Amino acid sequence: MNQTATQQGHPKGLYVLFATEMWERFNYYGMRAILVLFLVKAMAFNQDAASQVYGSYTGLVYLTPLFGGYIADRYWGNKRSIIAGALVMAIGEFILFFCGHYYDNAALAMPLFYTGLGCMIAGNGFFKPNISSMVGQLYKKGDSKIDAAYTIFYMGINTGGALGPIVCGFFGDTGNNGDFKWAFLAGGIAMLLSVITQVIFQKKYLVDADGASIGDAPKGAPTLFLKIPVMVGFLFLLSVVTIALVYIDINVVSYLFWLLIACILLIAFIIFSDASLDALEKKKVAVLFTVSFFVIFFWSAFEQAGASLTFFASENTQRDLGFYVVPASFFQSLNSIFVVTLAPLVAWVWIKLGKANREPSSPFKMAMGLMLLALGYLWIATGVKGVGAGIKVSMIWLIGMYMMHTFGELCLSPIGLSLFNKLAPVKFASLLMAVWFTANAFANKFAGVLSSLYPDGKTTYFVGYAIANLYDFFILFVIMAGAAATILFLLARKLKTMMD
Ligand code: GLN
Repeated sequence: MNQTATQQGHPKGLYVLFATEMWERFNYYGMRAILVLFLVKAMAFNQDAASQVYGSYTGLVYLTPLFGGYIADRYWGNKRSIIAGALVMAIGEFILFFCGHYYDNAALAMPLFYTGLGCMIAGNGFFKPNISSMVGQLYKKGDSKIDAAYTIFYMGINTGGALGPIVCGFFGDTGNNGDFKWAFLAGGIAMLLSVITQVIFQKKYLVDADGASIGDAPKGAPTLFLKIPVMVGFLFLLSVVTIALVYIDINVVSYLFWLLIACILLIAFIIFSDASLDALEKKKVAVLFTVSFFVIFFWSAFEQAGASLTFFASENTQRDLGFYVVPASFFQSLNSIFVVTLAPLVAWVWIKLGKANREPSSPFKMAMGLMLLALGYLWIATGVKGVGAGIKVSMIWLIGMYMMHTFGELCLSPIGLSLFNKLAPVKFASLLMAVWFTANAFANKFAGVLSSLYPDGKTTYFVGYAIANLYDFFILFVIMAGAAATILFLLARKLKTMMD
């Protein structure tokens, strides 16, 4: 996080990408804020099933970018992919709006729900990787402002992430099941604003440092495929495939977990068996795989936000302020609010430590991130210890936990990502980025599995660990993240030597 560079001028294109991404994240996090509440309250899913849907949905949201990035590089270019993906996500939200309208007619609402979800997954796959890669393309290679540009872009992500749950929660999470549809509509409108921003400003402002257009389709790409209606049609086909994937995973056989492991193993095999890489490069790649492994434990506990922690906000948190009952969905904006407010503080600490020559290594910072996550869960576990079923605790527990989790995110997430940029051999840069996304996909899927353990009166077991109440549930995450943090602290020095 380079603070001085933010004072220098950035290209206007950065702010076009900022606004486009902000509206998209508004849509994603706004919809996610009410998703499990909608499923449980309106669609009569039990918490277990709603958690599974959440895991498969968010898992695939992180997997389709592999495909979207690949197609854009070879055929569509970033610009058109962003517009097509954004349009399909807007359509997805409008389909979910109808699903929300007909929620009490399961025969109609169910197919609409899965169709809408499929569009969100397919659209995101073409939006997210392409918009992220355009940020860097605005600058000359090696420009020192690129780091600051990504920091500003991250603020755009979190401005959307803060506003989405509040606006969608305000209109949709009212206690009346018929109102959830307004949250989907708000998400759809936000997505249209994202499309409009692109359509108006893309051509003029998305240019490189010399003023040449960036993110266009590669020369020689078949022109028929470059018409927006054809692209949207293609994404619909993809959404049908993803709907089938989610549906089969939830209702027929749970395969997604294994598929993701197989993907990572296959990529590891491809890279490690490549004779053109020398031992030093392979060591660096080994660091990236190790880091990805630990990151899984982070995100699978962190992403409880959209599932079990929202059940907790809804059922076990005292939200009545006397003059206003805070909707449970609002709590999902806390992470983003804390990112925007705390990121400068964390950046300042690293700079201060850097000046004193005491800045921790990247693996050590990531271990700190995991430890902060464990502490957040320890905090909330303290809040529910000995509290009887059905009693609501103060919202201070949830708020404090989200603050600690955000400090953890700020230690781990930007650092993990930049490690990939620094350590990946050029030849395998994209494939290793795919490992990072697949680790995220796996973590989100796993988050759904863990959320399904949310206590409902019966004792459940997770690899021998008994969960009878909320305290046991939260302690599971303390153990998981705490153990991962401890092992990573122990490995940090060794990983550091492998990186240099
Ligand atoms: N909150 C960030 C985003 O939405 C990062 C999430 C992640 O990497 N899992 O882009």
